Amino acid sequence: MPKKTIAYFYDSEVGNYHFGYGHPMKPHRVRMAHELIVNYGLYQQMKIYKPKIASKQDLMKFHSEPYLNFLEKITRETIQDNIEDMKQFSVGQDCPVFEGVYDFSKICASGSIGGAERLNEGSADIAVNWSGGLHHAKKSEASGFCYINDCVLSIIELLKIHERVLYLDIDIHHGDGVEEAFLTTNRVMTCSFHKYGDYFPGTGSVNDVGVNAGENYSINYPLNDWIDDATYVDIFQTVVGDIMNKFAPGAIVLQCGADSLAGDRLGLFNLTLKGHAECVKFVKSFNVPVMILGGGGYTMRNVARLWTYETSVLLDTDISNNLPANKYFEYFGPNYKLHIDALSSPQHKNENTSEYLQNITAHVLDTLRKIQSSPSVQINTGQPGTGGLNKDTNFTRSDIDSSEKDNVDITKDKLHLEGKDERVVDIDSTTQSKGEFYDGDKDQDGDVAMS
Ligand SMILES: [Zn+2]
Repeated sequence: MPKKTIAYFYDSEVGNYHFGYGHPMKPHRVRMAHELIVNYGLYQQMKIYKPKIASKQDLMKFHSEPYLNFLEKITRETIQDNIEDMKQFSVGQDCPVFEGVYDFSKICASGSIGGAERLNEGSADIAVNWSGGLHHAKKSEASGFCYINDCVLSIIELLKIHERVLYLDIDIHHGDGVEEAFLTTNRVMTCSFHKYGDYFPGTGSVNDVGVNAGENYSINYPLNDWIDDATYVDIFQTVVGDIMNKFAPGAIVLQCGADSLAGDRLGLFNLTLKGHAECVKFVKSFNVPVMILGGGGYTMRNVARLWTYETSVLLDTDISNNLPANKYFEYFGPNYKLHIDALSSPQHKNENTSEYLQNITAHVLDTLRKIQSSPSVQINTGQPGTGGLNKDTNFTRSDIDSSEKDNVDITKDKLHLEGKDERVVDIDSTTQSKGEFYDGDKDQDGDVAMS
């Protein structure tokens, strides 16, 4: 099978933002991942893009204008004058005000929107944005370290072309913001595997399956602590295999949160890079356009390891277990290896018994049985009177209707070439000479140095 074309989105500014002293979310982890990806030479096989920064109008396809205006204006100095808004938009605690919070959030979202556009125009089979995957943000509310929901925005973009989009989430936390955004539509199926029970955000019971036209199109797989590779991969393949049969999506968004790895600062699962990436490999095997996103992940060195390894898996390229020299090499001591071991002490015993998993899997497959198999699947296109998209979002029928109309006779050229994302041909790295970098083709309009 010919190699997939991968569009990789990265903005070198992303690592410069700080949530504040002691906050577990560290944007620097994305820069560490990027450094490894560059120094393993993986960038040479990808189209590298610096995303065009999304406008407020772009973000308003999901988020409310007052919320975006607040994010744009708020600074640490003006917190005291905006206490009511802080409360209303849930900013202040887990989601602090920090310098550049709006710009940071826009950078993260822009890669996911740009990636979806590359998939829509057919210039890439797979798009990657490790700074995305911020799945908790709501229409008018920050949540769980997330301010702008890039997952939702990328799905909205994909819906311009695709009748059905599948969202998969292997972060340890429930993908609640994405589920809520598409709760009442059958054009988007969401499927989240997550720790459940006395754990953030608290939602994602196996009985939560969506409402109205979206009933049975929200799939939740609740899990207990310390699930291991073999078990996780088994349930993932069983459930996702069945979804692919029954739902037959035109495109997939896969949120690859790294907090489901063993040894995560906030997580309580026991996956290694290999188990986590096996899910990525499985999704890729269906040969459907895929948007790959980051997400949580709070042990930075392991986040960088995981997303580098998953990039190599997407490229079908074996990489050495010995980490290459890179700017952040000292973070990876004492062994300086790519792969990590599962936790093996008795207190890390998998608390998901085979009986429990059989029960949940049966429940999920039963939910999926209630949707008709594709291609005869009756899809509610959201016409007035037939339910449709969640009315609690700004993602209205008119957004979809107008794009669908536009897209009826659309050519790929028409969708493309709006001067969108900048193709990067020159990566300034400490260990690579410029001549080795991807030589851009005709759609390149300039050099963008990345470091
Ligand atoms: Zn998470």
